Amino acid sequence: MADPTPRPDSENLRRMHRELFARHPGQGSFREVFYTNIVRFPQLRLIGFTILAAAIFLHNKFVLGDFSWDKFIEIFVIMEAYALLSWLCLYLFFKRFRLFDLGIFFFAFDLVVWTLAIYYSGGERSWLFFILVLRSADQSFTNVRRTLSFAHFSTFCYLVLVLYLAFVERREISWTSEVTKLFLIYSANIYMALTAVTANQLRRRTLRAMRMTGRLIVELEKSTAKAEEASRAKSQFLANMSHELRTPLNSVIGFASVMMRNVNKNLKRRDINFLQRIVENGKHLLDLINQLLDLSKIEASTTKLKIAPVSLNRLVKKTVDQLEGEIRNKPIRLITSLPKSMAAVPTDEQKLKQVLINLLGNALKFTKKGTITVRVHLEPSTKKPGRIDVQDTGVGIAQDQIGKIFDPFHQVDGGQTRKHEGTGLGLAIARSLCHSLGYDLKVESKVGEGSTFSIFLNGTPTSRRHA
Ligand code: ADP
Repeated sequence: MADPTPRPDSENLRRMHRELFARHPGQGSFREVFYTNIVRFPQLRLIGFTILAAAIFLHNKFVLGDFSWDKFIEIFVIMEAYALLSWLCLYLFFKRFRLFDLGIFFFAFDLVVWTLAIYYSGGERSWLFFILVLRSADQSFTNVRRTLSFAHFSTFCYLVLVLYLAFVERREISWTSEVTKLFLIYSANIYMALTAVTANQLRRRTLRAMRMTGRLIVELEKSTAKAEEASRAKSQFLANMSHELRTPLNSVIGFASVMMRNVNKNLKRRDINFLQRIVENGKHLLDLINQLLDLSKIEASTTKLKIAPVSLNRLVKKTVDQLEGEIRNKPIRLITSLPKSMAAVPTDEQKLKQVLINLLGNALKFTKKGTITVRVHLEPSTKKPGRIDVQDTGVGIAQDQIGKIFDPFHQVDGGQTRKHEGTGLGLAIARSLCHSLGYDLKVESKVGEGSTFSIFLNGTPTSRRHA
């Protein structure tokens, strides 16, 4: 079963490090070492000995010209039996000998069996003497000491074979040729050990890099946690402050509105004008505070979502109807383009509606004439709603501004002379709401032609270019 809680990166890195550098069973990830020694290496050994048997067959038949089935079957059985027996030993005893590495013991013993294979392929006449170099080659990725030990032991094995042939079997040996072969075996082995030095240096460098990465990740995790905590605290503070500000501000607006009615008829025209400005500015301030409160609530993750199946057709129509009144006498058409039927979407209706209102409100604000279209797109494969576009034929947004408009308080036309009302918080709220619903909000725009804001209900597609 998959681990339900993702591990932090630093922990993953430590685990990888343990596995990469574990040399002995019982150190690092034992399961990994155990699996390698009792499954992977024995499998390789069995395959290796089978290939060696085939090599002996070909060598004796075609190179040596001295092939006998009896001898071939003998060495074949010896090698395969050894491969299987060593597998069984590793399987039964590997766990028990934690201090003594049984895997290394069999690596060394392989050399004895290989020497026997050389003996069966003609001894001093065998071309297969080179196989004694392979152990240092396949160990050169471990460490220099181990590779050097195998280098000496394999040369020693060949020396014993030659001595056996000369003094026990009393074969006629060409000593110059055998000493040359010993030299070849030894020098090739030493060369392999030298490559182990390079491998070791690389390993040490990797180790250093991994340690450094590990430290950096830990530091990064700590600072991210701190930053998240600070951000939550900031949002909480803002939420509290906004709440505290709204109460007195509401009474300022309320009392100013009451005074504006001028019930006792004792206020001059100028006083009423001042009161009107207090009420207007108060309302603007209240709007700003309300939006700020919304944004900080979303960012502090204190907004509760009420997820239920929602018909997007109904939601879009309802929202558009609600905003119809805002068109007033402008030459604007507010239209919807909706699929005839589509599955209900599990979402928070109020929150999605707020996003649509923010986007439509902007479209109305920044479009003098033309059309504003709300379009729902279905996913071609699933036929489920995948995207909602709010498209206008308004002023558009310059490319250098597109990346910034979702930042709180950012307004393209933010100077003293700005023509449009607004707080600069609408898009920041809309995007935060989208994120809290698991959606993405993107925009495409061209100055003078209009803008399209898209709510991606299933994350972001990569095919379109967006801000
Ligand atoms: P505001 O309250 O100023 O509308 P928003 O966060 O909603 O704040 O929008 C930020 C800025 O993005 C706006 O001031 C405007 O410059 C730009 N903008 C948003 N929507 C549109 C649109 N549909 N067309 C052109 N510009 C837009």
